[in-house]
Amino acid sequence: MTITRHYKNLKLVVDDSLLESIYQSSCGHYPKEYGGFLIGKYSHDFKTLHIQQSITAGIFKSSRIEFTRESGYLKCEFEKLFIHKGLYYIGEWHTHPDGEAWYSSTDLNAMISIAHEKNVKIDNPVLLILSITNNSLRDFNFFILNNNRLEIYE
Ligand SMILES: [Zn+2]
Repeated sequence: MTITRHYKNLKLVVDDSLLESIYQSSCGHYPKEYGGFLIGKYSHDFKTLHIQQSITAGIFKSSRIEFTRESGYLKCEFEKLFIHKGLYYIGEWHTHPDGEAWYSSTDLNAMISIAHEKNVKIDNPVLLILSITNNSLRDFNFFILNNNRLEIYE
């Protein structure tokens, strides 16, 4: 099944099987947070964003309330995805174990600094937050960074 969300005149499209596999990759880290990268592409008119893959973070620090991934180390992997599949970095995802599917001030600041990273060529990165329990994906929200604010895809 395809999940569609909207922000202003932008459309975000993601398959529920990708969300399921993201959730599955994070379960083993419960009750700590876990996360990774969202990979996909925009349509030619830049109105539709297709999220197509996830890459889990290999180097990171995490606790029950925080997740920080190492920056930059996947540059080579990103280049390969672009050359072979035309896909590129779209944004980030992480879990909130037993928490809300809403961003914290730390999350906002992290997204602002990510948008300023030299090797991230995207002005409006997406943040996916998954609210998880010990045995289920409870809720999730997609946000877009716009003018240093995170706004929700509804
Ligand atoms: Zn968070």
